Amino acid sequence: MTLQRTFIMVKPDGVKRGLIGEIIKRFEQKGFTLLHAELMTVDRTKAEYHYMEHQNKPFFGELVDFITSGAVFAMVWEGENIIEVSRLMIGKTSPSEAMPGTIRGDFAAKKEENVIHGSDSLLSAEREIENFFGLLKRRNLEDDFPFEGR
Ligand code: ADP
Ligand code: MG
Repeated sequence: MTLQRTFIMVKPDGVKRGLIGEIIKRFEQKGFTLLHAELMTVDRTKAEYHYMEHQNKPFFGELVDFITSGAVFAMVWEGENIIEVSRLMIGKTSPSEAMPGTIRGDFAAKKEENVIHGSDSLLSAEREIENFFGLLKRRNLEDDFPFEGR
């Protein structure tokens, strides 16, 4: 058993295109559990912290502009090996490499606007959940969330 939590975010392009329901549906059908979700706008400080590993990349400014350009749908999901499995469900960063059947493979046409974010490690999941929701510092099941018995 490696029950994990991860941070999943529908990016502004996905929200504008009405893909929130489709994305929730895929994670629910997979058998994962939604613990927390919020439609929100992201300020620059939060966006820069979220993408800090990319701060020296040439696309960093545009990435922060994009993620702060409209509402995002931020979520915490829980499940077996969810960090690795959710990355498989999301697909490769570049739409030209994302396989059909993955979320990006099915819905994204541009690398800059690729619909969805998912944490790539336990460490980034903890950091990202803390950044967006300010709770859940622990990676396992002690209940930081108000929905017991889910
Ligand atoms: P992922 O979202 O798959 O983890 P990365 O962490 O490498 O991908 O990059 C974060 C986000 O930055 C990507 O989802 C994408 O929107 C954007 N991005 C990555 N590489 C580029 C690039 N070369 N040009 C423009 N945007 C990029
Ligand atoms: Mg990444």
